[in-house]
Amino acid sequence: MRKSKFKPISLIRHLIQLIAFILFPGFFVVIFTGIRSIASAIIAGNWTVSSMGMTTFMVVGVLLITAVLGRFFCGFICSFGAAGDLLHFIGKSLHIHQIKIPHEVDNVLKYIKYFVLTIEVIFGWVLGLSAFSGTNDPWNVFGMAFTIKNPNFSILVSIGGFILIAIFAASIFIERFFCKYLCPLGAIFAIISKGRLFRLKKPTANCGKCSACTHNCSMGIDLRGTDVIDSGECIDCMECKNICPKNNISTSVNSTAVAIASAAALTGCYYAGNIVLPVNSEALTTTNSSTTTDFTTSSNGTTGSDSTTSNNGNTSSDSSTALTSGTFTDGTYTGSGQGYRGTTNVTVSVSGGKITDVTVDSYQDDDQFFNRAKSTIINEVVSSQSVNVDTVSGATYSSQGLLEAIANALNVDYSNSNTTTESSGSSGSGGHGKH
Ligand code: SF4
Ligand code: SF4
Repeated sequence: MRKSKFKPISLIRHLIQLIAFILFPGFFVVIFTGIRSIASAIIAGNWTVSSMGMTTFMVVGVLLITAVLGRFFCGFICSFGAAGDLLHFIGKSLHIHQIKIPHEVDNVLKYIKYFVLTIEVIFGWVLGLSAFSGTNDPWNVFGMAFTIKNPNFSILVSIGGFILIAIFAASIFIERFFCKYLCPLGAIFAIISKGRLFRLKKPTANCGKCSACTHNCSMGIDLRGTDVIDSGECIDCMECKNICPKNNISTSVNSTAVAIASAAALTGCYYAGNIVLPVNSEALTTTNSSTTTDFTTSSNGTTGSDSTTSNNGNTSSDSSTALTSGTFTDGTYTGSGQGYRGTTNVTVSVSGGKITDVTVDSYQDDDQFFNRAKSTIINEVVSSQSVNVDTVSGATYSSQGLLEAIANALNVDYSNSNTTTESSGSSGSGGHGKH
């Protein structure tokens, strides 16, 4: 097989992939969950600028860039795709046999990702079910396990971890295995980038018979007989352009400049999406007044209509009754919960029987996510006197870690999908107790 000629664009691409991995390894999760949150909010009729404005800006920005310029997100920014590239490189370097799927089979297998997307839309967006969330989701597990800041490899021992390892194993033998066949975000990108303006040109009349571009396409696209590469599968990696012995693949605009501009714009979208808009407390109060479920029963696991007294002496009501003032014993309590990357610790203050303040003592999540969750979640908990509040779009896992920590401090139950288990105050993850 012909070796790809080294071109500056390759170095730039891998450098950008590395920077993206260091700065925002979970960007693909943010975009995908962002799309889901926005779609779900619109379907439920509760989309608001204060709660979802910047997330929407980020998601729409990424989609627009992809629709106009192509899938630079996949080729340059996505850490999951970069991991696939790295595993493929390792496989090749170790002379592990690379499996080339015949184009006829490949063209059929590529439809699997549209099936995955359809399942996600029906069950996740419309019905609000989340079988693949928390540690059941290989994407999440990747983001939690592989990070420069707080790597957490123990998370690999989970359903999502096993799926992730299987994907990684396949990626050693098949280049961009996940991107080609399974990625639901890639399916969205493939659809919207079909009509992009930035395209690689490859006048077939000037081609020899080597088919080097086809044999080396990262996404397994059959480029034979193609004059303009308009496939939605193309991730703009430029490998075909690099390898062509006749320099027959070109673009009308400098491809390196477009790649850098796209990567910069995508990065801008990410940081814009993490700007927290001021929370409208009046709107929150209105929203939360309709909340009916709340803190559930305490340590002894008793449920029912009778009030029970939990370990810390707080009184909690049954699961169908909203809390009222005077429910808690005054004091300060500490609690912990599982966030995206590790434990979140909080101190909750109760005065006059009401939650008056929540202070974050420590957290391990990325600042961008945690800070988004923090202000909104604390405001909502204090406002509603409940942990049954909406998580913050694009910071779901940090929200859940924070809510679990608050519930843990107050010795009430909370179901945290980060751990896919229900934690209760009495058996919380440690640190629970009154100061
Ligand atoms: S196809 Fe999916 S996993 Fe692959 S690079 Fe694109 S978003 Fe990332
Ligand atoms: S067609 Fe070229 S730029 Fe597109 S994915 Fe294949 S090798 Fe990369």
